Amino acid sequence: MSLQAVDTLIHPGWIVPVVPRGTVLEAYSIALSGDRISAILPREETRDIQAARVLELPQHALLPGLVNCHGHAAMSLLRGYADDQPLMPWLEQHIWPAEAAHVNAEFVRDGTELAVAEMLRSGTTTFSDMYFFPDASAEVAQRLGIRCQISFPVLEFPTAWARNANEYISKGLSLYHDLKHSALVNICFGPHAPYTVAEENLSRIGVIAAELDCAIHIHLHESKGEVLQAVELNGERPLDTLHRLGLLGPRTQCVHMTDLGEQDMALLAQTGASVVHCPQSNMKLASGACPVSKLSEKGINVALGTDSAASNNDLNLFAEMQTAALLAKLHSGDATALPAADALAMATINGARALGMQEHIGSLETGKQADLIAVDLSGPETQPLYNILSQLVYACNGSQVSHSWVAGQLLMEQRELTHIDLAALSARTRDWQATISNTQEQAQ
Ligand SMILES: [Zn+2]
Repeated sequence: MSLQAVDTLIHPGWIVPVVPRGTVLEAYSIALSGDRISAILPREETRDIQAARVLELPQHALLPGLVNCHGHAAMSLLRGYADDQPLMPWLEQHIWPAEAAHVNAEFVRDGTELAVAEMLRSGTTTFSDMYFFPDASAEVAQRLGIRCQISFPVLEFPTAWARNANEYISKGLSLYHDLKHSALVNICFGPHAPYTVAEENLSRIGVIAAELDCAIHIHLHESKGEVLQAVELNGERPLDTLHRLGLLGPRTQCVHMTDLGEQDMALLAQTGASVVHCPQSNMKLASGACPVSKLSEKGINVALGTDSAASNNDLNLFAEMQTAALLAKLHSGDATALPAADALAMATINGARALGMQEHIGSLETGKQADLIAVDLSGPETQPLYNILSQLVYACNGSQVSHSWVAGQLLMEQRELTHIDLAALSARTRDWQATISNTQEQAQ
């Protein structure tokens, strides 16, 4: 690839490539060609480069786009619908009935677009999703140009999308085959949890996923109660059940993992499964705290997720990084736990690794996909600048993200989304709010 002509040349104040860990480059520039990063080089060496577009961002840090490893995007339409409830009553009495009444492909299209708008505005360029009508969310992601992993849900009970586990699996597999060559969307298995999917279907998923080398994304050990109930019913911990059924491996993404003993951690390390930590959702539902420092010490990959806007209530990975760092310190009683560089790695390269995309995204390196964000550090909230990494993790709230690119495409410029009409989206969101509140009032 000739460096003489590139599509975009960016001269930022700082580049935070994430790999190598903790690095901050000053007076460096980055060149984008097509969907890739074609060079990261000292600014003085860029004089001969012809760029179709040159961006001067002297007050900004450039970093890899953030990777949100767990969420249910369309549930953004239920943000604030039922709050301040424990996990099971929240699900059984509020969320599941509302979903049964309202979820269809249109709900998923609008809810996913709302979620993508929020995620792009707070620095996420890749998200992982698990929701009904995954074909509708995949269609929205492709139209809006954002990268994602979509795990199609598998449950035993009927929803508007499928009647039983067989149908969830066959519809999901047909979507997997349809999108096998998509540049932006990866489809994988999303068995909801060990307590909502029967053993025979879990093992079937294990067999097919291994054949296809396809990832498995599952809620696991979300609370102590879930683990205790499983031990009572099956005589073993859910993680052991998954292992026995052949579901644990490097392509497995275990979401939550708040209740973990030494043996669980040994099993995770041995099988190479990733953990997706969702600190704000775990705190809000009082589910518990994932022992991230212990997991990292044992070499287990820990990524970061927001979970849905119904249990968070935002999809802001800057806020999640900060919470993860603070919670790790409080939980371990050690102020040195999860330093800023590690929290940033969790939200980028570790996320990429969990999704099996570490060769393509998660860090700024020549040859990788041009998925990056610019963060404006000139405001009073982020001054002075003794330490760029500290500002990013402890002082930014996401609103400083000014630009974002996915696969070389500029999706946000000076906070203007290039592919989303926010006014039209807000109008549709208000319509959903009216419909959903009407049904809620009629039910009371
Ligand atoms: Zn979830």
